[in-house]
Amino acid sequence: MHQPALSSFRRITVKIGSALLVDPQAGVRRDWIASLADDISTLSARGVEILVVSSGAIALGRTILGLGNRVLKLEESQAAAAVGQIALAGAWSEALGKNGMKSGQILLTLADTEERRRYLNARATISTLLKMKAVPVINENDTVATTEIRYGDNDRLAARVATMMGGDLLVLLSDIDGLYTAPPAHVPNARFIPVVERITPEIEAMAGAAASVLSRGGMRTKLDAGKIATAAGTAMIITSGTRLSPLLAIERGERATYFHPSASPVKGYKTWIAGQLEPAGRLVVDAGAISALQAGKSLLPAGVKQVSGSFSRGDTVAIMAPDGSEMARGLVAYDAADAVRIAGLKTTEIADVLGYQARSAMVHRDDLVMGHAAVRAEIGAEGYHAGAK
Ligand code: GLU
Repeated sequence: MHQPALSSFRRITVKIGSALLVDPQAGVRRDWIASLADDISTLSARGVEILVVSSGAIALGRTILGLGNRVLKLEESQAAAAVGQIALAGAWSEALGKNGMKSGQILLTLADTEERRRYLNARATISTLLKMKAVPVINENDTVATTEIRYGDNDRLAARVATMMGGDLLVLLSDIDGLYTAPPAHVPNARFIPVVERITPEIEAMAGAAASVLSRGGMRTKLDAGKIATAAGTAMIITSGTRLSPLLAIERGERATYFHPSASPVKGYKTWIAGQLEPAGRLVVDAGAISALQAGKSLLPAGVKQVSGSFSRGDTVAIMAPDGSEMARGLVAYDAADAVRIAGLKTTEIADVLGYQARSAMVHRDDLVMGHAAVRAEIGAEGYHAGAK
C-alpha cells in the first residue's frame, strides 16, 4: 500500500474523464455518479473538502443531440457543450443532493487561472462555495472557448484549480489505473509504477510519443498536470475510475500511481510575485500590520496608512514600513481608488464606504511574499511560470 489515506488530505480536487461519466447511448451513468457522490459525502463527513472537475459536457451533448461520433466543427462542439453542460450540472446537483450535499457550477477558461485579476475572482468564489459547504463542480467554459475546443483538456485545468485553491491532493480518475513504464495498450510487458518522487524526463518518456491531437487527455497531459500540481505542493494520484466508488477504492488499495509533491513548493508562487518587475503601487503600513505580516497573517485595510500609485485589483504592490523600507510584496485585492477610501478602516466599516460587501484583506496572506529584496536575491527574478503556484 503506497497511498496515504485520503482523509489525511484536507482539500482534494477530483478530475473525472468524460468516458467515465457518459455512456454514448444512455447518457449519464447514474449508478456511477451516485457511487462517486457517496464517496464524496463520506470524505466530507471526515472533514475533507472536495472539488470536482467534471468533463463530459461535449460527450453528453452529443448523446442528447444524437450527433453520433462524427467529428464536430468548432461551433457544433460549442453547441454540444452548451446542451451537455446543463444536463451534466443537473446530474451532479441531483447525485450530491441525494447525499444531502449542495453543489455549485463554475465554468472556467484558462485565462481565469492565469490572469491575476480573474484568478483572484475565481478563487474567492470557489473559497466561498467551500465555506458554504457546497461542492464546486468545475468544467472548462467550452461554449465560449475561442481556440479549437477539442484541444482543451481538463487534466491541466484540474491541476490549475487544485493549485489555485491550495489543495493538497489532485486525483485524476481515468480509464487507466496509473503510470506504466510504457503505454500498456502498445507494450504488453510495461511495468506499473506505484510511486513517482519527481517527474523527470525519464518519467515523461514513459507517457509515450510526443504530444499529438490523439494524446490529448492521455498520459502526457496527466504528467503535465502532475508537473503543475507537484511544483505547487499538491500531490497527485492517477487511478482508474471505471469501478464504482472509485475514491474509496484508492483507500482499499486498488492500483494507483502516487506523485509526491515538491519538497519546496512555495517557491514557484513566490517567484511569480517576487519576479514582478515593478510594483504598480505602494502601501505604507503601521507597526501592528508589520507584526501581523511577520506572523504570517494577511494585510488588513486597518493597518494601511498610505496608498500610492495607480493599480487595479490583482496588481502587485510593495508593502512598506513607515521608514520607507520594503517589507513585502503581494497582489492587492482592491483597485487604488477603493484602497485609498478604506485605508485605516476596520473590516466592519468597509462595506458602508464601498457600498458593497468586499473581501476583508487588502493583501491576502496567500498572495504575499515577505522580505521582497531578500527573496529576489535568493531565487532570482525568474518571472512567472504558467501553472506554478
Ligand atoms: N471540457 C470538456 C467537456 O466537458 C472535456 C475536456 C477533457 O476531457 O479534457 O466535454
